[in-house]
Amino acid sequence: MAEEVIDMHVHFGAPEDVQSGCYWSSKFEGTPAFWFMKITSGSFFTKFTKEKILKKLLKVINKSVEVDKCVLLAMDEVYDENGKSKPDETHLYVPNSYIVELADKNDRILFGSSIHPYRKDWQDELEKCMENGACLCKWIPSSQQIDPTHVKCESFYRKLTEYKLPLLIHCGPEYAIPTSNTDCNENNNPKYLRKALDMGVTVIIAHCSLPYFGLFDAEYFDDMEEFYKLFADERINEWKLYADLSALATPLRSNFISGIINKIPHDRLVFGSDYPIPASELSYKKSKNIIKWIILFFKALSIKNPLDKNYHLVEKMGFDKNVFTNASKLFDSISR
Ligand SMILES: [Zn+2]
Repeated sequence: MAEEVIDMHVHFGAPEDVQSGCYWSSKFEGTPAFWFMKITSGSFFTKFTKEKILKKLLKVINKSVEVDKCVLLAMDEVYDENGKSKPDETHLYVPNSYIVELADKNDRILFGSSIHPYRKDWQDELEKCMENGACLCKWIPSSQQIDPTHVKCESFYRKLTEYKLPLLIHCGPEYAIPTSNTDCNENNNPKYLRKALDMGVTVIIAHCSLPYFGLFDAEYFDDMEEFYKLFADERINEWKLYADLSALATPLRSNFISGIINKIPHDRLVFGSDYPIPASELSYKKSKNIIKWIILFFKALSIKNPLDKNYHLVEKMGFDKNVFTNASKLFDSISR
């Protein structure tokens, strides 16, 4: 897999559908993520179906000229501490089995699993996912109501370490998938990942834990500070700590990009988009020359494929070229 350009953060979601098992809540239908999907799949005035969303997604993936492969992310249901699933508190569910089905039919799709660590059958599900080629496990602690320091996570972490299966974990504010328990928003702080890191888990912090709406997200600045503290401590502890660049190409994250470029080792950064969340032409650019800036703006505007647009925007931020292929090296080290 080495040297392939991998977008390791692509989402799928669908309204209730018997064949795939997918569903989303009425609360999810009020989020910007829902509306981006509705508009981009051409369903603004018509019925929104799984088929339409999938058709658009496959077109985007198959026609990308810059991205070789995408990690398509499953999203497990909410479970309580007794291991009981809570569909009434789940706002987006995408079963592992459905992503496996899509990945089996398209060699540009990699399987990004999602397994709630409180599940009674987590071990069976993890083994099944490994057999089906999972290249990571994804959690959104706020939406899925997961406390990464919970004792129930410990045996899960041991298995992840054994398999060298990366844990892709959302950190910082979450606006795409709501939570039914707002106390869990706190769980997105990277400071709670020290246990997983100490236990040897390969952790990928999504979005470099950056605030999404700049100063409007001041309450999440602590998440960003804790992110930098983790990377400062990473060298002493020899942790397997990584961060992804997904959803960085947006205007209100511009002020934070040079901090990531200067403070985080580029061999620990992995490329991603967060599709269908759109990338903006008004995002951070390395060049401060106004003429060059305008040329780059119009170049990005002319790129219609959202994955290619995001690739181009991240490239112009000034990261090392290796960020685009780091995920393929990381996935090569998974023990199967
Ligand atoms: Zn995401």
